[in-house]
Amino acid sequence: VQWVYNFGAGAADGRAEMKNLLGGKGANLAEMASIGLPVPPGFTLTTEVCTRFYEDKCTYPTELKGQVAKALARVEERSGQKFGDATNPLLLSVRSGARASMPGMMDTVLNLGLNDWTVAALAKRSGDRRFAYDSYRRFVQMYSDVVLGIELSHFEKLLERAKQRRGVKQDHELVAEDLEKLVMDYKARVHVEIGMDFPEDPHEQLWGAVGAVFNSWMNQRAKTYRQLHDIPESWGTAVNVQAMVFGNMGSDCATGVAFTRNPSNGANDFYGEFLVNAQGEDVVAGIRTPQELTIKARKSHGSDLPSLEEVMPNIFRELCTMRQQLETHYKDMQDIEFTIQQNKLYMLQTRTGKRTAHAALQIAVDMANEGLISKSQALMRLKPELIDQLLHPTLDPKAKKQVIAKGLPASPGAAAGKVVFSADEAVRRAKDGEKVLLVRIETSPDDIHGLHAAEGQILTIDGVTGEVILGEVPTVPPQLSGAFGIIMAWADEYRTLQVRANAETPNDARQAKEFGAQGIGLVRTEHMFFDGGRIIAMRRMILAADEADRKVALEELLTMQREDITELFRIMDGRPVTVRLLDPPLHEFIPHTEAEMAQVAKAAGVPLNRVRRRAAELQEANPMLGHRGCRLAITYPEICEMQARAIFEAAAAVGKAGGAVPVAEVMVPLVATLQELSILKEVVEKTAAAVQKEQGMNFTYRVGTMIELPRACLQAGKLAEQAEFFSFGTNDLTQTTYGLSRDDAGAFLPEYKAKGIVEQDPFVSLDQEGVGELIKVAVERGRTARDGMKMGICGEHGGDPASIEFCNKVGLDYVSCSPFRVPVARLAAAQAAL
Ligand code: ADP
Ligand code: MG
Ligand code: MG
Repeated sequence: VQWVYNFGAGAADGRAEMKNLLGGKGANLAEMASIGLPVPPGFTLTTEVCTRFYEDKCTYPTELKGQVAKALARVEERSGQKFGDATNPLLLSVRSGARASMPGMMDTVLNLGLNDWTVAALAKRSGDRRFAYDSYRRFVQMYSDVVLGIELSHFEKLLERAKQRRGVKQDHELVAEDLEKLVMDYKARVHVEIGMDFPEDPHEQLWGAVGAVFNSWMNQRAKTYRQLHDIPESWGTAVNVQAMVFGNMGSDCATGVAFTRNPSNGANDFYGEFLVNAQGEDVVAGIRTPQELTIKARKSHGSDLPSLEEVMPNIFRELCTMRQQLETHYKDMQDIEFTIQQNKLYMLQTRTGKRTAHAALQIAVDMANEGLISKSQALMRLKPELIDQLLHPTLDPKAKKQVIAKGLPASPGAAAGKVVFSADEAVRRAKDGEKVLLVRIETSPDDIHGLHAAEGQILTIDGVTGEVILGEVPTVPPQLSGAFGIIMAWADEYRTLQVRANAETPNDARQAKEFGAQGIGLVRTEHMFFDGGRIIAMRRMILAADEADRKVALEELLTMQREDITELFRIMDGRPVTVRLLDPPLHEFIPHTEAEMAQVAKAAGVPLNRVRRRAAELQEANPMLGHRGCRLAITYPEICEMQARAIFEAAAAVGKAGGAVPVAEVMVPLVATLQELSILKEVVEKTAAAVQKEQGMNFTYRVGTMIELPRACLQAGKLAEQAEFFSFGTNDLTQTTYGLSRDDAGAFLPEYKAKGIVEQDPFVSLDQEGVGELIKVAVERGRTARDGMKMGICGEHGGDPASIEFCNKVGLDYVSCSPFRVPVARLAAAQAAL
């Protein structure tokens, strides 16, 4: 078995696709080496070594030692140096690298191979004793920390003391002798702490560091991180061993990090920073102010430190070429780490760069326009959830704001609320209806300190800039133009599924249309009766003493319903609108406490006793499976008739007012048998004929059914004799297929997920094996009976990308989701079609 993979000098055993075996870092080091980028030579111990290590009680495969020795010899040959040599020593970095980047794993150990002999050689060859001993003391400190597990504070104290002795404030003011003495102090401390000497043997150091990486795979931090991010334990980590290059050997040396494009706005600008005469972690440590890469960035940031473009113009040009080469090769924005040693550039890492949602869209659009990727590739690489993030409001650029701190730009959009510091408190306060901002220690600790002083204060956080602002700043609605608009237009070119929205209110309908909805897939008419004075009319209808009384109440409801639907038809301007007949059980409209009942009696002008009696009559043991849906309309056909009349009169009204006459779709809920549908269809058709005659105009309409019972799926062939369309109501269909009440699932569903009994909440992502099978049966039987029958989905699954893919696969015509999911669904539908 090959446990060790070499890279360097224009060649490599591995490739970028081998992330599972080599980890992300190792695979990309191999890839960069093989496309000729200057990568210091090295080798990768595979993730399989790690897996084996744990299977075999923390021992290595027998061939490993030999393979490492061979690989090390290769690195020596490629670098022209020798590990542990007293004249020209090879020094190594040992870096962990899992498949997915994983904080919580062992940190990198740099300068490995230094000891009292090799340090002298390093001093001599570099001609810089200070540099050599500084590297040595960093190595002892790092190794003791990450490999030997000794607290860093011990070393920090000793460093402090050394500075006091010399009477200086900064690390770099220490001279070679101070550092040499410091190394001795460090080592003495190590002996005190672990009762053993610091390992001087480079090979012992190497295996110590390798072991530490593998052991860190099972440390608590790494385990927790894996749990939180669903990373399986079986993946293991790789270890990368690589020849050191030095960015801290003098003023012709530097180290830096860069993104090939701007990760916060996506602009095609080289974006990064560097430090002259510095090593790796100095850039992130924040002790010195890093410098910009380009003159443009320096100017726009108003920095007075020169850019790399100015300090090392030749290296800068080389780096720009590599930027091009990396993007052409990887066809995506890269996040790179580089080091310059004595005017020679080395690449130490590349990976796909993280970016904001806004940048992701911009980059995808730009790269497609540049011809780097195709339009469909651009669409495929955008997670539909990104779109969701972009639909959040952002801060009004014209608003006055008092910035009190700055964090990292972490997301688009902005939010305001009271500051809280624990997730529990955030949940508690949010439940009480307060707007809260949960503050976590992700920004600089100094900022957090300032924020603590403002606890309970209302702050606004701008996710785009990372700014923390005092008070609540007004926001502006999301920008739907630019890259967003282009991506949506491209999605529309590729998708075959139509996207509609579930909407009852004019606002939702307008929003849906603006987001590109091609119609309304579900109008829940009962919602129109719940609010304000309307519920009174509804109650009057329910509490009516006789037919005549009920007619009066229905008349009132008819007027309201007609107005509402007219408005929806007008807004949707000829696009299809599916109106569902009344669905919930009537008792939902009647309150149950004495006091409320008394109020209702008064408002509806009926005796209190009658309210009590009706409430008792309507009481059900299991309302979800009770007198609701089409069962209501069967019992009270006059409700059905009123609703049908409202719909058709609305259609006529819109037509007469000169608007596009809508194709009204009347949808009958909770149908189980053909007879139910036949009875109600007849009521609807009679009403339609009556309205057409009264209005003196013809309009087309369809009568269809919501499919939300397993029986309906199985009977789909029969239902299709009458139904002119099907709309899968997957919320109820999931409840009835699973025998699972959505409102009660919370008690055990999390445990089911944790135990792997269900992979996903079936109310969030469609249960394709169960509910999905029934849908397939219904689609097939329905279309066999009625060729080309229109079918869609209107459950909340209509906005879930995985469910959308399924809908596309089984041949539905459209998905209907909440207005804010419409753009997500457009992209997901395109991806499903590609
Ligand atoms: P991380 O995953 O935390 O970025 P890395 O393994 O990339 O850890 O190492 C962190 C830093 O250490 C690198 O950015 C680089 O500056 C430095 N480093 C790693 N390997 C080498 C090397 N071979 N020569 C010089 N510096 C290195
Ligand atoms: Mg790195
Ligand atoms: Mg339903």
